[in-house]
Amino acid sequence: MLRYLPFNHPHNVRILVVEDEPKLGQYLQRGLSESGFVVDLAVTGIQGRDLAIQGDYGAMVLDVMLPGLDGFEVLRAVRQVKSLPVLMLTARSDVEDRVRGLQSGADDYLGKPFAFSELLARLQALLRRGQLQETTRYAHKGLEIDLTTRKASRDGQRLDLTAKEFSLLALMLKRQGQVLARTVLAEQVWGMNFDSETNVVEVTVRRLRAKIDDAFPDKLIHTVRGMGYVLESRAEDRQ
Ligand code: CA
Repeated sequence: MLRYLPFNHPHNVRILVVEDEPKLGQYLQRGLSESGFVVDLAVTGIQGRDLAIQGDYGAMVLDVMLPGLDGFEVLRAVRQVKSLPVLMLTARSDVEDRVRGLQSGADDYLGKPFAFSELLARLQALLRRGQLQETTRYAHKGLEIDLTTRKASRDGQRLDLTAKEFSLLALMLKRQGQVLARTVLAEQVWGMNFDSETNVVEVTVRRLRAKIDDAFPDKLIHTVRGMGYVLESRAEDRQ
């Protein structure tokens, strides 16, 4: 039996699932979302290819049999542009598909039907391989976050954050000094099909701000009216 691996992947990791069977696509989207990933679902080869090329994904789960372009053609097109880790879904009995998949540049394959726990384990293995040289710690003026241990602190004091607050802070620290629009935060932290009518971004920013800024004179999260939010220190400006 496969066990779930420890949950230690960085936040804000987006996964692209390219699967035309609605039931399986939704099952994968739900399972991966519940495992902490931000998931986009493409239902045709062309949509999958375009999203894979334009989007910022940590990995792609790619079905072979797709309408329009098949999985091999999608893989070939994506490989010409970038080295995104790809897990291909093939028919279990089809040895030819597996060989072709690996020859076309897939990083791993999984035969259908499969257990979700195995898909998750293989995906995490692919992400870990790609992650080795990536930075997992970000800091600004005593505010620190470690994506591997999932700990955050300010001036050595541990911050107790929810999963979304942690993802939001990670994104703001990675892009410190840049104004991030609400729609960008919504998409990166909550996913592509985010309902823009809700005020969940404002609410989460307010809670995060209370946790990281309330006890300190030097505020780090700022509202830029009509634009969004920025993480930066403005302490020097006041002197
Ligand atoms: Ca299919």
